[in-house]
Amino acid sequence: MSKANIIDGKALALSLRASIAEAVAELTDKHQLVPGLAVVIIGDDPASQVYVRSKRKSTEKAGMASFAHTLPGSTSQQELLDLIAGLNADPAVHGILVQLPLPEHIDESTVICAIEPAKDVDGFHPMNAGLLATGQPALAPCTPVGSVMLARQAARNLSGLEAVIIGRSNIVGKPLAQLLLRENCTVTLAHSRTRDLAGVARRADLLVAAVGRPEMVKGDWVKPGAVVIDVGINRIATDDGGTRLVGDVDFGEAVQVAGAITPVPGGVGPMTIACLLRNTVQAACAIAGVEMPKL
Ligand code: NAD
Repeated sequence: MSKANIIDGKALALSLRASIAEAVAELTDKHQLVPGLAVVIIGDDPASQVYVRSKRKSTEKAGMASFAHTLPGSTSQQELLDLIAGLNADPAVHGILVQLPLPEHIDESTVICAIEPAKDVDGFHPMNAGLLATGQPALAPCTPVGSVMLARQAARNLSGLEAVIIGRSNIVGKPLAQLLLRENCTVTLAHSRTRDLAGVARRADLLVAAVGRPEMVKGDWVKPGAVVIDVGINRIATDDGGTRLVGDVDFGEAVQVAGAITPVPGGVGPMTIACLLRNTVQAACAIAGVEMPKL
């Protein structure tokens, strides 16, 4: 059997980031508008620190302003809410991202709801979730937006495709279902209680795995020729005592059956940050009342 095309998320993210940099230069030049992204991180989770550093670098590389707020793990919920209120009011800040997960003593939902929806570049605020679900302009979550862009690379027209998403989280599965509905896919949202998950997955022309279980989706879950988008990022131990990253899809098996597939790493991951920058440009334009350059 022939092998699937590998969908290159790194290359697509690079070209999107180049267009964003051009858009930012145009906004700065024509409208003196410098999109600004504030990233708030609490505690010293090493994985979160890595994400935040790379977000900062990418933001600055795109010509945007970057504001980093690193708070100790002992920060109270009220202190965090006060910081968010300041960022909501700061005209130089167009996007606010609070890095998840938060320490246990802070309520995630209260924090997300405190972010001004117009600056909610993660797209997690219930207002943006509602706008997305009702087909109105919204700031949509970055990983699902990036996943749709990757799917479009492989199948230019998604209309009418049978799409199966495994995973129903608020940050990936559910918003992705809304975005794929907008693309006129027939969407099935599968999850941990789905009966005959392999059988449901096999119906998919477009199969998305967002579960958080290493290599769960096997080759015989994939319809021959299907487009497979692997959102999962799992670190597993290797025989030599090291670790490596794998997705939620058994890549070695699925690549033999699929028509196109994203690798891990180098698939959805790089698109997430690029889409965060795109959302920040979108937010800045909406707040300033300026037409968004085409991206
Ligand atoms: P989550 O834990 O919030 O949700 C997981 C979902 O998977 C749940 O809806 C659950 O019902 C479903 N699930 C769990 N076990 C299952 C099973 N055995 N069978 C079927 N469904 C099952 O996770 P999340 O935040 O949506 O993230 C999912 C994965 O995507 C993780 O690996 C995460 O690291 C990764 N992720 C990647 C990016 C990126 O930028 N590439 C961004 C966000 C999340």
